[in-house]
Amino acid sequence: MSRIVVTGGAGFIGSHLCKKLVENGDDVVCVDSLFTGSMDNIGELLEYDNFKFVEHDIVDPYFDEADQIYNLACPASPPHYQYNPIHTSKTSVMGTINMLGMARKCGARILQSSTSEVYGDPQVHPQPEEYRGNVNPIGIRSCYDEGKRMAETLFFDYHREHGVDIKVIRIFNTYGPNMNPDDGRVVSNFIVQALKGEDITVYGDGNQTRSFCYVSDLVEGMYRMMNTSKKGFTGPVNLGNPGEFTMLELAQKVIDITGSDSRIVHMSLPADDPTQRKPVIKLAKKELDWEPTIPLDEGLKMTIPYFKEKLGL
Ligand code: NAD
Ligand code: UDP
Repeated sequence: MSRIVVTGGAGFIGSHLCKKLVENGDDVVCVDSLFTGSMDNIGELLEYDNFKFVEHDIVDPYFDEADQIYNLACPASPPHYQYNPIHTSKTSVMGTINMLGMARKCGARILQSSTSEVYGDPQVHPQPEEYRGNVNPIGIRSCYDEGKRMAETLFFDYHREHGVDIKVIRIFNTYGPNMNPDDGRVVSNFIVQALKGEDITVYGDGNQTRSFCYVSDLVEGMYRMMNTSKKGFTGPVNLGNPGEFTMLELAQKVIDITGSDSRIVHMSLPADDPTQRKPVIKLAKKELDWEPTIPLDEGLKMTIPYFKEKLGL
């Protein structure tokens, strides 16, 4: 049994991770500012004696004793991370320094939830971990992309300078229950629009691609990375589902599965929106014996009932 701190534990991915850890019997402390997370996501966990919630912004110093720290705190949807971009940068830089400082003091292993956004609008396709990316340092996505790149830098400097035991994963687009219906990301937008019979908003021509991973697959990969016995394996390691779809294909799938009569409409493409994205997961397969098991159609079918209930439909 371990004592584990999960920052961002009331968010979409964090809530699934906390549930897995609590059910494993670990002592879990969820540290979250509730900026994009919600108490609804962790409501059932509050019943457990081995789960504790602490409302806290990691930009401010935090200390607790722990064996492991999962650092997930950071808004992940473009509208949310762009809402207060300076705070997003602070979360990835000052917040990460605070959590690395805690790991150093108490000797905890710490895992950073980095992102495929470190590859920016990639000119290499699909993306292996060695690719250094094509990121605009001054655009509207930079607070997130450059923040996450800086967080990786900090992880590796704390590792080299102070011997902190680090693990870095690069998460590709993940979806599933517990996403906030107002989150603004494509899977939640399309499902909510289809269920309400509203227009499906495809940005640009819809030929841009993403690779979508179901949340239980992602959490399994994250857990394996944290608990790997290969001590020298720090990552970064890509975690994602290599199935690649255009946004038009995704819209059509959602319409078909929900049986909606929504129409597809096109809206302007946000600045710096990556044109293509697909992970190379050779490293995760080799080092973690991990690969996703849930294809997009199946994952959408498991996600849609959650949104139906959330919308009271
Ligand atoms: P989310 O927005 O649902 O969850 C983020 C959580 O962090 C929320 O509960 C939020 O309240 C909390 N938070 C934000 N800023 C904070 C701060 N300063 N202090 C404390 N708590 C704070 O997003 P998610 O999809 O669950 O993402 C979780 C992590 O995974 C993020 O670090 C994100 O960058 C990373 N990630 C997610 C995806 C994805 O597709 N979901 C892809 C790549 C990376
Ligand atoms: N997108 C879209 N309609 C929406 C929301 C997003 O067409 O209602 C597009 C967006 O322009 C991007 C893709 O879907 O090309 C994925 O967007 P999301 O915000 O989910 O994730 P990210 O861009 O961070 O990968």
